[in-house]
Amino acid sequence: MNDKIRPSFKADFLIVGAGFSGATFARLAADTGYTCHIIDKRNHLGGNCFSYKDEETNIEVHKYGPHIFHTSSKEIWNWVNKFSAFTNYTHRVKANSNGSVYSLPINLHTINQFFKKKFSPVEAFQYIESVRIKHARISNFEEFVTASVGIELYEAFYKYYSIKQWGCDPKKINISVAKRLPIRFNYNDNYFEDIYQGIPLDGYTTLFSRILASDKIKLLLNTDFKQEYKNWRSCYRVLVYTGSVDEYFDYQFGVLPYRTLRFERVVDKEIQGVAQMNYTDYSKPFTRITEYKWFLPENKHKLSVAFIEFSDKADSAHEPYYPIRNSENDSIFKKYENLTSAEKSVIFLGRLAEYRYYDMHQVIASAMAKFKNYVQKK
Ligand SMILES: Cc1cc2nc3c(=O)[nH]c(=O)nc-3n(C[C@H](O)[C@H](O)[C@H](O)COP(=O)(O)OP(=O)(O)OC[C@H]3O[C@@H](n4cnc5c(N)ncnc54)[C@H](O)[C@@H]3O)c2cc1C
Repeated sequence: MNDKIRPSFKADFLIVGAGFSGATFARLAADTGYTCHIIDKRNHLGGNCFSYKDEETNIEVHKYGPHIFHTSSKEIWNWVNKFSAFTNYTHRVKANSNGSVYSLPINLHTINQFFKKKFSPVEAFQYIESVRIKHARISNFEEFVTASVGIELYEAFYKYYSIKQWGCDPKKINISVAKRLPIRFNYNDNYFEDIYQGIPLDGYTTLFSRILASDKIKLLLNTDFKQEYKNWRSCYRVLVYTGSVDEYFDYQFGVLPYRTLRFERVVDKEIQGVAQMNYTDYSKPFTRITEYKWFLPENKHKLSVAFIEFSDKADSAHEPYYPIRNSENDSIFKKYENLTSAEKSVIFLGRLAEYRYYDMHQVIASAMAKFKNYVQKK
C-alpha cells in the first residue's frame, strides 16, 4: 500500500484501544501493507492484559487481574508465539471453602474430598446424578449449577463466590456465566480445557510492544478518542473502535453496567503456594488471591507478591471489568448494536464495543475475522 497515492490520508486505519483487539487488528493490517494509527487513553499499551515488574519483588504482575493465555486454535497459538515464547504453565486453581482447601473446577478429587468418599468416576457420576436438582426449566445461574452439581456443592463453591463477584442474588445472574464452569468425573484439575496454555515469557507488555513494532503502526498513548479524534473522517479511511459502545454513542440509551475490581497488594516470603486461590464461602469479603511468582516458578525470588481481589459495582470513575449481562442490560446493548450497523467505515471490536466477556484468544479470533472480512469486501 503506497501512501503517496493518498496524500490526504494520515493513515488507512485509526484504531482506538491498544488491547488485544486493537493490537491484533493493527498488526494484521500493517502486515498487509496498510498504515495504522493506534491510540489509547491509558498511559500504557496492552489494555487489560498490561503487565509490569513489581518493583519490590521483581515479579511480573498483571495490573488488571491474572491473565493466562489459553486456546485450542493452532492458528492463534502460532500467531501469538511469533511475538513471544510462552511458559508451559498450567492453571490449577484451589478453592478455600469452610475451612478446607479443594481443587477447582469441581473434579473427582473435589467430590471425594468434599463428601469424604472414594468414588470411582462411575460412582461419582451416579452420586451427583442422585443429588442434582431436576428443574423443569433452567433459566438462571442458580438453577443451572444446582441442576449440574446439587445444592451442597453449589453452596460450597458457587453460591457465595458468585454473590461476591456479581453483587446480586444468583437467581439474577445470566446462565451464560455458569456455562463456563465444568464438572469433571476424573482427576483432571487443569482449569482450562484448551490444547494450548501459557504465560508470555517476558510478560504481556513486551508481547504487545512486539505486536505493534512495525513501521506501518504509530502508537499514541494518553489520547482519548472522544476528546481528540472526533473528526477522524477527514484523516482516516476506517475507524476500528474497541472502546465502550455506550460512550461512542454518547450514552443516549443509558450506561451499560459493569462490575469493577479492586486489588490489595500483599508482600511476604511465602503466601499461598499456588497462583490462584478462590475464596468461595462468605467468611472473606474478597473473591480470590493471585500470587504471581507461581506463573513462572522456575524464577527464584526472595519475596513474593500477591493481590487480593475485591469485586464491586462500577460507576463512571471505575475501570469497567465484567459486563453485567441480564435481559435488561442486553436490551440496552441491542439498541446500541442496532446503531453500529449504520456507522459507515467503522468496525466495532472487542469486549467493550461488543459488551461481552471475551477471553484473549476470542478477541484475537474476532479481530482476525473482522480484518479478513474487511479485506474481502475491498
Ligand atoms: C480480571 C480479568 C481476568 C481475565 N483473565 C483472563 C485470562 O486468564 N485469560 C483470558 O484469555 N482472558 C482473560 N480476561 C479477558 C481479557 O482481559 C480480554 O479478553 C481482553 O483484555 C480484551 O481485549 P480488548 O482489546 O477487547 O479490551 P481491552 O483490553 O479492555 O482494551 C481496550 C482498550 O481501549 C482503550 N479505550 C477505551 N476507550 C477509549 C477511548 N475513548 N479513547 C482511547 N482509548 C480507549 C482502553 O483504555 C483499553 O486499553 C480477563 C479479564 C478480566 C476482567
